[in-house]
Amino acid sequence: MPSFSILVLNSGSSSIKFSIYEAGNGARTRLVEGAVDGIGTDLGKFWIEDASGKKLVDQTPPVPSRAVAFSLVADALKSGKFSAPAAVGHRMVSGGPTVQENQRITPELIDEMESYTEFAPLHTPIAIYIMREALKLFPGIPNFVILDTYFHRTMPEVAKHMPIPEEYSAMGVRRYGAHGISYESIVYQLQPNVPERLIAAHLGNGASISAIRYGKCIDTSMGLTPTGGIISGTRTGDIDPGVLLFILRKIAETTESASAAADQLEAVASKKAGLLGVSDLSNDMRDLREAIKEGNAKARLAVDKFVWTIQKWIGSYVAELGGLDMLVFTGGIGENDIDSRAEICAGLSALGIVLDEKRNNVRGAAVISAENSAVVVRVIPPLEDLMIVNHVVRLLGE
Ligand code: ADP
Repeated sequence: MPSFSILVLNSGSSSIKFSIYEAGNGARTRLVEGAVDGIGTDLGKFWIEDASGKKLVDQTPPVPSRAVAFSLVADALKSGKFSAPAAVGHRMVSGGPTVQENQRITPELIDEMESYTEFAPLHTPIAIYIMREALKLFPGIPNFVILDTYFHRTMPEVAKHMPIPEEYSAMGVRRYGAHGISYESIVYQLQPNVPERLIAAHLGNGASISAIRYGKCIDTSMGLTPTGGIISGTRTGDIDPGVLLFILRKIAETTESASAAADQLEAVASKKAGLLGVSDLSNDMRDLREAIKEGNAKARLAVDKFVWTIQKWIGSYVAELGGLDMLVFTGGIGENDIDSRAEICAGLSALGIVLDEKRNNVRGAAVISAENSAVVVRVIPPLEDLMIVNHVVRLLGE
């Protein structure tokens, strides 16, 4: 089987990331990766680099809209400098209750997923836009949707079900989780020695935790949308519903329509809350760590809340799993923030978790627990694009 190229498109609320892999005969080689960041700003960032890390494109263009962002990517992909894809894989956070399987994209499937935009309101609109554009850009080339929710489909009903009236459950309102492709990649990288009882914490701008038994998800912290679960960069995480009602009533006092009030509440809960809301400074862990060094009490409280929530969640998952063999950190904070890992693990000594301070301080260290730790603690990068390529190759039947 000759090798062929696969394009991966992975969009966030303000960015489009992409990579091109060469696949075939079991090989997976990343040829290039790139991104357009800062959609909606005058000073975006557009870069492409090859496998050795050499920058092929490095620009700071204005990126007022997602259309401009996609046209930058599309022009580069069509420039003839990169190998033409045989298939395209799209990351999708949620396809709603009816689109649960990774599959080939048709215009009808896009419409169906779009009807569940509320299930991932920050992510779905841009992903849908990119799918429609990609179908036009590469006519006749198969495009596939690879879902974050796919990994979480193995959760038992007791974890999926929400304590709400049946009429809303019947509309598909339940726990779907997110970051599933990242978790899948953790399990993939641990093969063939996947532990029985694993907790993985994907701590990035969005943050979540999953309980995984023999490589299958049994619970995850994000709920219907990525706003639920643990506190993250700009999102509340799980919160007393009374707090949201209080804020909604305040917003409604000065808002004309119910839907405008709902939009404002959504912005509060998912764009202005979390680390940003508590610190009143930044959603970025690096900024918060700097501020803590300067004695900023609000930044300290924000990070303490982050650490405290994660510890509580880990404790509850240990109960669900009946013990713990391995704890994995991933995502921008999980991989890079030594202090967060140390602070989280310091509160978990009752579980027999002992970090090795030296190993924890080394960038790129795989195992960071001490020899006498009852639980192995690891840092593993999230290889989401590679997982998408694996799914696409499988769906192509290669
Ligand atoms: P996204 O969810 O947008 O993909 P990332 O996984 O890139 O986010 O994670 C972004 C978070 O990782 C930010 O809070 C950022 O501050 C944090 N981060 C990245 N590098 C470091 C570092 N060296 N030290 C501490 N935090 C870091």
